Amino acid sequence: MNVKSISGQVWNTERQQFVRAEVRWNTSGLIESIRPTTTDAPWFIVPGFIDEHIHGAGGADAMDGSVDSLNTISRELTRYGVSAYVLTTMSASHESLLQSVAAAAKYSIREGAELLGLHLEGPYLSPQYSGAQPKIRLRPIDHEEISQLIDASGGTIRMMTVAPELPGALECIPWAVNHGIHINLGHTAADYRTTRQAIDQGADGITHLFNGMPSLHHRDPGPVGLALSDSRVYVEVIADGVHICPPVIQMTWSAAQGRVIAITDGVSAIGLAPGRHHLGEQEVIVDNRAVRLPTGSLAGSKLTLDQAYRNLMRWHIPESEIIDALSTRVARRLGLTRQGSVSPGCYADMVLLNPDRTVHQTIVRGKICYTQTDQSLP
Ligand SMILES: [Zn+2]
Repeated sequence: MNVKSISGQVWNTERQQFVRAEVRWNTSGLIESIRPTTTDAPWFIVPGFIDEHIHGAGGADAMDGSVDSLNTISRELTRYGVSAYVLTTMSASHESLLQSVAAAAKYSIREGAELLGLHLEGPYLSPQYSGAQPKIRLRPIDHEEISQLIDASGGTIRMMTVAPELPGALECIPWAVNHGIHINLGHTAADYRTTRQAIDQGADGITHLFNGMPSLHHRDPGPVGLALSDSRVYVEVIADGVHICPPVIQMTWSAAQGRVIAITDGVSAIGLAPGRHHLGEQEVIVDNRAVRLPTGSLAGSKLTLDQAYRNLMRWHIPESEIIDALSTRVARRLGLTRQGSVSPGCYADMVLLNPDRTVHQTIVRGKICYTQTDQSLP
């Protein structure tokens, strides 16, 4: 059998530490063994990153509704250590969403990062906290629309972000959960009580905490107060230092330890030079730090998960928590039993990090999908 192997400091999920070892995998891309070795290879080998909230990359966008775009995104993301992702749509017309879900249903090429499915961010969101979601596309919950999207998606819809205060939202949540869809609460004006009712109904996550919702108030805790205090919910954070200040990231980690999920909310401009690009049907302006609408409002990010890793280390988040938030925990949440860990029986989905935690190589199902070259050195 054509077994391949790699050696370095391998992240051991059970022991929560790096161990010098050799990882061997078989031709099906499954890890067969991990054996201690005295290698002096400089790589830190961690499970491939999993992004559950990303809109596009490399000039391609979920709203292109094209298989070619999905290919571009899958290939581009391996440059940043991503081995799997949930592609996220914007609020859009029903026809446009149908086209996007149909593209995901058709997509079967395995080149680059694995497309796990779709995250529908809207269109059932609060106009008051729409952020970069086009207000004109926001609308009341519509079961018929959602049913049609589920049918057209071929089972690829894995997540949905909804505002729980919209009429019918609380009834819709258990129904969607029964269809295997994880419900995130976000772009919402809901108070604490309504947010809590939505969690009681089966919602299990908060979309990009602090962004697209009322701020925390000590007498009116709202969705932020719920997210920080309720152990049932996963909490998405954008660790780019622009969407949330580092001290608030640290505070979030203290309050919600074991529940934080690092996302990028990245847009098609990832991997492209600064300038004017698009996010769904809207124009966005990209500089070195952020992505904004012409109005100045933040519109997703140009963060990559390997950059999030380095940012979080700089902000003194323990590395065990970082690896959990970028991979292990996301796999657990999404029920991916063969991902999120470098261990026998799991897919050989791995990132080889340099000592400074930049990406040297990304391996997906045992196949090397990206190797850093001299030109790609930062
Ligand atoms: Zn988003």
